[in-house]
Amino acid sequence: MSDEPLPLPGFVTWPTFPFEGDLRVKPFDAPVPLEPPRDGDDPSECHACSAPDEAYIWVSERWRVRSLDRPTGLPAVLILESRSHLDLGDLPNLLAAELGVMTVRLERAVRSLDGVARVHVNRWGDDASHLHLWFLARPYGQLQLRGSFLSMWDEILPPISEHQWRENLALVAAWLGELDGRPLAEPPQIDWKAPATLGAVTSALLLEESAEPTELEESAEPTELEESAEPTAPAEDAEAVTPDAPVLPEEFAAARDVRVLPGPTGFAPIVEEPAQKSRQGANTVRPVPGQREGSTHDRDSGATAWA
Ligand SMILES: [Zn+2]
Ligand SMILES: [Zn+2]
Repeated sequence: MSDEPLPLPGFVTWPTFPFEGDLRVKPFDAPVPLEPPRDGDDPSECHACSAPDEAYIWVSERWRVRSLDRPTGLPAVLILESRSHLDLGDLPNLLAAELGVMTVRLERAVRSLDGVARVHVNRWGDDASHLHLWFLARPYGQLQLRGSFLSMWDEILPPISEHQWRENLALVAAWLGELDGRPLAEPPQIDWKAPATLGAVTSALLLEESAEPTELEESAEPTELEESAEPTAPAEDAEAVTPDAPVLPEEFAAARDVRVLPGPTGFAPIVEEPAQKSRQGANTVRPVPGQREGSTHDRDSGATAWA
């Protein structure tokens, strides 16, 4: 291939594209003859399989839902995983049918959050072989966040407050728990409730039957597919998004002459120069249910983001 960069695609002019300035296409690598292993190609070393239920915000007999390990720019970013070590194309009919049901339920649960217009559902699987689907909440009215660049904006926008993040996770977990399984995400500590009350609830949740996860059995009955029992959204007031300055992801900050476009209304507007601080340094939050240390999905840790 010639040394000339490929021409820029039309989408760099779209209002939803997060960057402006002097852009050019990277040199295109030759294909490798053998792809590197993914996490979980050796099931005995699979991060998802070895993660305890407490690392998730909601669990059931055959499915688990987790969050990232800290707040990000979107109201909610959740990951649906099968409990069994299978990839999408490996799912037997029972799990394939349940994946449809779980996808619809989780979409509804996330969309029930205040201020969420739409939920983007993605599956990539380039980093890990254990089935995992991404659910990204797109804030209402933020037209600049529409479409396929949403996952980039999630890392560009200032993180939502930890309080709001925990509240959203707890609401989604509670919604799913109304239908099946066990919610594990705790609501944030709220001033107008006695901490003792919350503590009691938390303890009750944690001490609740610690039934062993059941391995996939083909003979198992499918879970209910009835739609009529879906609950309505619990009404909660959303907190304002914390208007911190946007932080450029390091890999983008390293690029020349690239800056973040003016942000959508409601978010801090602009970064004139690439910020050097990383999100990891910028945020220190307590461990939470839904957190999984050492995951290939720690998007600050390397190049496996959004795979
Ligand atoms: Zn696995
Ligand atoms: Zn992945």
